[in-house]
Amino acid sequence: MIRRGRGLVQLPGPTNIPERVLRAMHRPSVDFGTRAFAELVASCLDDLARLCWTRGRVYAYAALGHGAWEAALVNLVGPGEMVLVPETGRFATGWAEMAEALGIRVVRIPTDMRRSIEPEAVEAALRADRERRIRCLLAVHVETSTGIRHDPRPLRAALDAAGHPALLVVDAIASLAAIPLEMDTWGVDALVAGSQKGLMLPPGLSFVAAGPRALEVARTGGLPRKYWDWRGRDGTESYERFYGTPPVQMIFGLREALDMLAEEGLPAVHARHLRLARAVRAAVASWAEAGAIGFHCRDPEARADTVTALTFAPEIEPERLRERCRERYGVAFGGGIGPFRGRLLRIGHMGDLDEAMILGALGVLALALAETDVPHGRGGVEAAVEALAAG
Ligand SMILES: *Cc1c(COP(=O)(O)O)cnc(C)c1O
Repeated sequence: MIRRGRGLVQLPGPTNIPERVLRAMHRPSVDFGTRAFAELVASCLDDLARLCWTRGRVYAYAALGHGAWEAALVNLVGPGEMVLVPETGRFATGWAEMAEALGIRVVRIPTDMRRSIEPEAVEAALRADRERRIRCLLAVHVETSTGIRHDPRPLRAALDAAGHPALLVVDAIASLAAIPLEMDTWGVDALVAGSQKGLMLPPGLSFVAAGPRALEVARTGGLPRKYWDWRGRDGTESYERFYGTPPVQMIFGLREALDMLAEEGLPAVHARHLRLARAVRAAVASWAEAGAIGFHCRDPEARADTVTALTFAPEIEPERLRERCRERYGVAFGGGIGPFRGRLLRIGHMGDLDEAMILGALGVLALALAETDVPHGRGGVEAAVEALAAG
């Protein structure tokens, strides 16, 4: 079958890569040892710090988000120290498992993974740690596996209320450059991010932004490490910054993506994500009226502006819907992962996205619902149009 038009990746990562970024990356290699290239890298890291709203330092890795997770752990948590992890979904549990594999003890706070974290439970766990062995509270800002936003601010308040010195370390992989996030003003000590979500790049570059308290801990603390070590990455040469050959083309792409975000303006970027998310939620609410489809997130306030997770009645197979959208219409949606494997359909709506793309994606999903006889309320796409028209 010949497919016309262009495919859409409505996955919660990787996201659609803008033409401008693709073109910026389509360049031969350059000598990365020049002053000009070092300045290019420095400009990207400075802009990333600005994007995170921190005066701290940003360390960049030629690695996935999972690499940046490990970087944060080995720089911040020493032998015999513990981390506290609210289990909000597949990504929170994955980070906790990684900590355990590194020999770090994990205190877990179980949740039903359908609401935002309860700060009271976090505060109680912190108070129970009388010996102050918890070094970091690890929290995922947008849990991509559930479509739920967990505001870091009440977590900072819980740390302060308990008088606990643990660092607040936030996974912002599915929120940076898409929804508001102010590291320093919100009291976040370190933040983990990746290239292939809000930053609109291919996967393969990740970052940790470290504020003053995190930098102080890393100076003398942490686990044995080399590649991830922040202390070896403070030089000005790009070879030092990356502890090896810088991923040249990714940096060209990153520069372009950061320029695009600056041209649009961060408040406008956030407003666009909110607007498109509202359109998606309006469509889903409409489809939900027939009782076979619902929002995975039970708390409307906590539904993320970057990804929406849909639940289905037991007799419906979301994987069939996904396959139809992908194979027949060239629109890729995410499926359930972790404990929700095979049970969810996740609509990614972050990064390089506009009204035409989101309406196209919702239209294709409506078409697949109709073709596979999934009971759904009519008028979902209309509802999305109305939400957009309302502003
Ligand atoms: C995508 C994602 C990750 C994993 O990133 P990789 O680059 O695939 O390692 C981790 N956390 C969150 C919240 C994510 O959305």
